Amino acid sequence: MDSTLQAFGAIIGARNLLTDSADMAPYLKEWRDLFTGKARAVARPSSTAQVAALLALAHETGTPIVPQGGNTGLVGGQIPVADGREIILSLGRMDKVRSIDPVSDTIIVEAGVTLSRVQDAADGADRLFPLSLASEGSCTIGGNLSTNAGGTAVLAYGNSRDLCLGLEVVLADGRIWNGLRTLRKDNTGYDLKNLFIGAEGTLGVITAASLKLFPKPRARATAFLAVDSPDQALSLLHLARAEAGQQLTTFEIMPRFGIEVVLRHAPGTRDPLAAPSPWYVLMELSSPGADGLDATVERLLEAALDQGVISDAVLAASESQRQDLWRIREAMSEVQRFEGGSIKHDVSVPVAAVPDFLAEAIALVIKMIPGCRPLPFGHLGDGNIHFNITQPEGADKAAFLARWDEINAAVHAVVANFQGSISAEHGIGRLKRHLLPGVKDPVELALMRAIKATLDPTGILNPGAVL
Ligand code: FAD
Ligand code: ZN
Repeated sequence: MDSTLQAFGAIIGARNLLTDSADMAPYLKEWRDLFTGKARAVARPSSTAQVAALLALAHETGTPIVPQGGNTGLVGGQIPVADGREIILSLGRMDKVRSIDPVSDTIIVEAGVTLSRVQDAADGADRLFPLSLASEGSCTIGGNLSTNAGGTAVLAYGNSRDLCLGLEVVLADGRIWNGLRTLRKDNTGYDLKNLFIGAEGTLGVITAASLKLFPKPRARATAFLAVDSPDQALSLLHLARAEAGQQLTTFEIMPRFGIEVVLRHAPGTRDPLAAPSPWYVLMELSSPGADGLDATVERLLEAALDQGVISDAVLAASESQRQDLWRIREAMSEVQRFEGGSIKHDVSVPVAAVPDFLAEAIALVIKMIPGCRPLPFGHLGDGNIHFNITQPEGADKAAFLARWDEINAAVHAVVANFQGSISAEHGIGRLKRHLLPGVKDPVELALMRAIKATLDPTGILNPGAVL
């Protein structure tokens, strides 16, 4: 081990600096096998002071650093590049819930606490932390904030950015910014925390966060609804908003093909409805009130049936039925690989434009690759569609995936026509870095570069990601 590495080891204790290739292996690739990297070492600090000392040394020695949380990111930002010069800074040992205040409705946690532990801590205090992702058992709050993660409750509670009141951040030169405020109102100048949120580890290392909590729902109504088209799904969304307002917490669209793939490959799932339908919606209402939601749901479903917006519906009658309905939606990402190659997009357009976007993009990819099987699904309530395309049956997987960039470019052109975004919730990372100059306003891009140069003048923070 060279003297620089020894100095890194001295800060955190040599056994918390992994250099053996077998020890480092899990940190060097992500679960989809899209990215693998090399690193000099994996550093596992346990305190903010240790992170500060590590970054001061990295700054001094020009050592590039890649922050990593739960390694569930979908754009490769947590994976080092191939030159092997970087040190991975894994926040997993910074896993303390520092404090919880159920009266102010706030919780302060360290960056390495997993999302499900934050949810559990809130639940233990009879509160709700509403961020909800299928990766919640492994992803960390530091990663959630650094990617501004979205998920299935954005409709009612916003994305990670909206749930954050303050941050503790270690800057590129090792200085600690203590911005762990829990204030609901604070207009004392620039809102610095929002620079670090969504920065994917390129501007600083988040070591702790203060987060918003909410009243715990006492009643939930979960429905699985058959609709003829995305247009009908949009009408249903409009109706649900009118009837339920803020009580509408989830509104997810899924195509029939997606349901078929789940039924084929996710053990224990079954079709909730008797007859197949071209499209489906998973909808959830929740309320902290004691009165329940029965009357609201009844009114809403009656109106939807009367107006011909839905053709069939099932309402979860128990928690286990609710879990079954959710399982269909949550399995949809993981089962696609069993059907062969899949070309993916995480895009958003204005909510009202989703049906037109879907019609255009589906027709386009079918024309480009006859026999391909579009599987667009996701957060219709946020205008965010995971526009995935499964390879034609029996086609060569490698030949299909070789068309990834070409298909991306075509779909992103449709997105641009609707004034949409090429990354709605997963970030830019390494996957979409080359696309950013083509979609960002030049002035915006110049401002981003100026901010990067100010906060990370020697460019040691996640140099392979975003910019
Ligand atoms: P990592 O993957 O370790 O890192 C992600 C990025 O953040 C990297 O650029 C990394 O450098 C940076 N980073 C991590 N920690 C820090 C830190 N403390 N300080 C500074 N930078 C840091 N995402 C959604 O938005 N919505 C979804 O619905 C969703 N569903 C998913 C479902 C599955 C099955 C999977 C596997 C992923 C899903 N994701 C989703 C993506 C992923 O879970 C989120 O991006 C998550 O927020 C990443 O957290 P992480 O701790 O794993 O971060
Ligand atoms: Zn999503």
